[in-house]
Amino acid sequence: MNHEFLPFSKPTISQDAIDEVVACLQSGWITTGPRVQQFTENLKEYLDAPFVLPLLSATAGLHLTLLAMDLLPGDEVITTPLTFAATLNTIVLAGAKPVLVDIDPHTLNMDLNQVEDVITDKTRIIMPVHFAGLPVEMNTLYRLANQHGLRVIEDAAHAIGTEFNGKRIGSVGDTQVFSFHPNKNITTGEGGAIATRDEVLAKRISLLRFHGMDREAWNRFGKSGNQDYEIVIPGYKYNMMDIQAALGLHQLKQLDDFITRRTELALRYQEALADWPQWKLPGTPAYPHRHAWHLYTPLINEQAANMDRDTFMSKMKEKNIGTGLHYRAVHLYPYYRNQLGFKAGDFPYAEDVGNRIVSLPLFPTMTDADHDRVLDVMYSIFN
Ligand SMILES: *Cc1c(COP(=O)(O)O)cnc(C)c1O
Repeated sequence: MNHEFLPFSKPTISQDAIDEVVACLQSGWITTGPRVQQFTENLKEYLDAPFVLPLLSATAGLHLTLLAMDLLPGDEVITTPLTFAATLNTIVLAGAKPVLVDIDPHTLNMDLNQVEDVITDKTRIIMPVHFAGLPVEMNTLYRLANQHGLRVIEDAAHAIGTEFNGKRIGSVGDTQVFSFHPNKNITTGEGGAIATRDEVLAKRISLLRFHGMDREAWNRFGKSGNQDYEIVIPGYKYNMMDIQAALGLHQLKQLDDFITRRTELALRYQEALADWPQWKLPGTPAYPHRHAWHLYTPLINEQAANMDRDTFMSKMKEKNIGTGLHYRAVHLYPYYRNQLGFKAGDFPYAEDVGNRIVSLPLFPTMTDADHDRVLDVMYSIFN
C-alpha cells in the first residue's frame, strides 16, 4: 500500500487557535501586548507559579535565566550530556563552564547520585533536564541544591504538564524553563516561558528580555501609557509576540488532552514492543510521577536488530515513516571536544544511549491505524 509520510511529530492546531491568530493580526497589535499578558496569566494558573515570563524560545529563557543569576567567568553549571545542544550552549554563552555527569540508564535523566562528586567551590547551578517529560527525582535534586547552596534551573523544555509526587513541574522549586517549539507538547510556533518563585530574578529577566527597558512597549503605546522609558541595563530582544500567544492561549487549553493521547500511544508502544528483542524500552522509576510523554524513545539492540540505529532510521524513512534522534551526547560535538576537552568515554551511558536512541512517531492526532502501521513496518524491517 502506498501511504503518506507519517512524521515523528506534528503540532495539533485547533480552529479556535487559527481564528485567534487571525483576530490578533486584524487587531492592530501583533507584538507583545494583551494576548501575551493573558497567556502569562493562564500559564501562572496552569503552572501554579507566581512569576511567569513568556519569551521567543526556551533557548532565550535558559540564556536569560543564567545571565540573571550573575555568573562569574569560570563558574560551573552541572548538567547532563543527553540533551539538546541549547542546554550546554546557553551555559557557555552566559560565560560559565558546563560540568557534566552521566545519565541514569534506566530513566535517561541525569544521575543525581553523581552530582556531589563534581561539586567544587566554583559550582553555582544544577541544571537538570526532565528527559522526554519524565521528571528527575525532585526531592534528591533540591536536597543537593540546598545542602551546597546551589541554584537550580530545570530545563523543562519537555515537561509542561509533567508532575512529580502530585506537583506540577513549574509549581515548586527554583526556576523552570519550558519550550513551545512545534515538536514540544504545546506550541506557539517558536516560543518558551520561564517560571520562577524568585521575584528579584523575575524582574531582572523581565528587563533583560526587552532591551533593558524599564517599561514594555505595550505599556508605552496604550491610551494610558507614557511614551518615555529608561534603559537600566543593556538587554536582549527576546520578548514573545501576541501572534505567538494567540496560539498558546488555545494550546494550553488542550494540553491535558494532548498528554492523555500521548500517554495512550506511549503505553501502546510499551505493550506492543514488550517482547521484541530488538528494543530496550523506556524505564519507569518507582517514585510517583506523571510522564508528559514529549517523546517515546526506545533504544535499539543492534545485535538482535542486526542493524544500527542510523540504518533503522533510514529504513523507516524508505517506508515513509519519520523518526527522530533525541539526542546524540552533546559533549562529543566538535566545539565541546575541542574547546572544553571532552572526549569519547567520558560519559559511557549517555554515549551508548546517544548511539542507540530513536524517537518513534508520537503526536496527539496520531491514530491507532497510524500506530499499527509503525509497528507493522518495524516488524517487516526486522524480520
Ligand atoms: C527544545 C529544547 C530546548 C530549546 O527549546 P527552544 O524553544 O527550541 O529554544 C532546550 N532544551 C531541551 C532539552 C529541548 O528539548
